[in-house]
Amino acid sequence: MRSVDVLVIGAGPSGSIVSALLNKQGIDVLCVEKERFPRFVIGESLLPNCMNILHEAGFLDAVEAHGFQYKNGAAFSFKDEYRYFDFCDKSSTGYGTTFQVQRGIFDEILINEAIKQGVDVCFEIAVEDLEFLDDYVEVKLSNGDIIRAKYIVDASGYGRVLPRKLNLEVPSTLTPKKAYFTHIQDNINEPLYDRNKILITTHPNFRDVWFWLIPFSNGRCSIGVVGEESRINTGASDEEILKHHVYLAPMLNRLLGNALWDTPVRTISSYSKDVKQLYGDRYILLGNASEFLDPVFSSGVTIAMVSAKLASDVLVKILTNQNVDMKKEYEEPLMFGINSFRTYVEGWYDGKFQDVIYTKIENHKVKRQICSILAGYAWDKNNPYATRSDEALDVLAKFCKK
Ligand SMILES: Cc1cc2nc3c(=O)[nH]c(=O)nc-3n(C[C@H](O)[C@H](O)[C@H](O)COP(=O)(O)OP(=O)(O)OC[C@H]3O[C@@H](n4cnc5c(N)ncnc54)[C@H](O)[C@@H]3O)c2cc1C
Repeated sequence: MRSVDVLVIGAGPSGSIVSALLNKQGIDVLCVEKERFPRFVIGESLLPNCMNILHEAGFLDAVEAHGFQYKNGAAFSFKDEYRYFDFCDKSSTGYGTTFQVQRGIFDEILINEAIKQGVDVCFEIAVEDLEFLDDYVEVKLSNGDIIRAKYIVDASGYGRVLPRKLNLEVPSTLTPKKAYFTHIQDNINEPLYDRNKILITTHPNFRDVWFWLIPFSNGRCSIGVVGEESRINTGASDEEILKHHVYLAPMLNRLLGNALWDTPVRTISSYSKDVKQLYGDRYILLGNASEFLDPVFSSGVTIAMVSAKLASDVLVKILTNQNVDMKKEYEEPLMFGINSFRTYVEGWYDGKFQDVIYTKIENHKVKRQICSILAGYAWDKNNPYATRSDEALDVLAKFCKK
């Protein structure tokens, strides 16, 4: 029977980053992934804060070499209004640009880099069951193998292996929503259209329904609509529903007039998730296997990577017999950023943050601080829009609404 220090469930961004960071510190890691890569997963617009962690994991050169679509900001449109944030013009230090990526390829690059660094990865093998014993965890794999691990890192994303197994799931505070999305040949020929930014568009009829348009570097883009199902499901086919809403939005209608809809539309619903606890005896939860908020500000991969970085730091300490306060060193730092993002996600759907985004009032200092949050620096203790996010957004939204 094989024994390892850490068994990582899943080779998405959180799994590949934690595996690489642990391996760099001499920890014996086995990463088990149930799919063959590349596999499809949604979540294609990265935030610049990811680049700091990709760099630390030793993945950045390979990502930069691939030729993904460069991304330098986020643009917003509502009816005839258009606003944008340039991520280099932010208050936090760190990278100001990133990429828009086809996740199948991106995730494969990351895990291949981890393998090159010496991480042991098994593909097309699922973790089927786990038994928590006194000194180790016995893990049953789908190929019949049994592995003994001192620690389990659950990076299984939407698989949520440990939250299900250990009854850790609690309902998310966010209202359940549904997304309809696909990839299209966009054929956008508007000369001033900026492919370097994600375009987030508010639905002209429902302020709590929105679209993403994420251009890739090959003339294609990802397009999706998100909202409560009762608002967006017209009863037609998934493709008709998506097209119906897209062509109601003036800017998308103009941009995508010549688009070729050549790929089946997918849907995902009730994806906001939460858990009772982020760690326990011999386990820790990362990325989407812990809490997932909402796609609106593309925070998912960044949160997954930050959780992987924090988890690797505490695990190295645990496995080298140093004292660790999991609450102070893992839960609180991780939740600080998640809770900042939560403020802006909730503010987006209740309209407060949209009042800020679409305001005509210009204040450069405030815009740079908001821009930092949108660039993924929600953990920046020097930014009042991160440290006192609820209060700061309330005050700002009232001011912008005047
Ligand atoms: C509609 C929508 C749009 C989104 N858009 C964005 C965006 O633009 N930008 C962004 O940053 N985020 C976005 N997200 C969020 C993003 O998809 C996730 O936050 C991100 O993929 C989480 O990474 P992860 O490593 O935690 O999990 P995942 O990327 O889901 O990886 C988990 C891996 O675990 C494997 N696995 C599962 N079960 C098992 C098992 N039993 N055994 C072995 N392996 C297993 C899976 O096969 C998978 O490869 C979006 C989410 C939604 C719902």
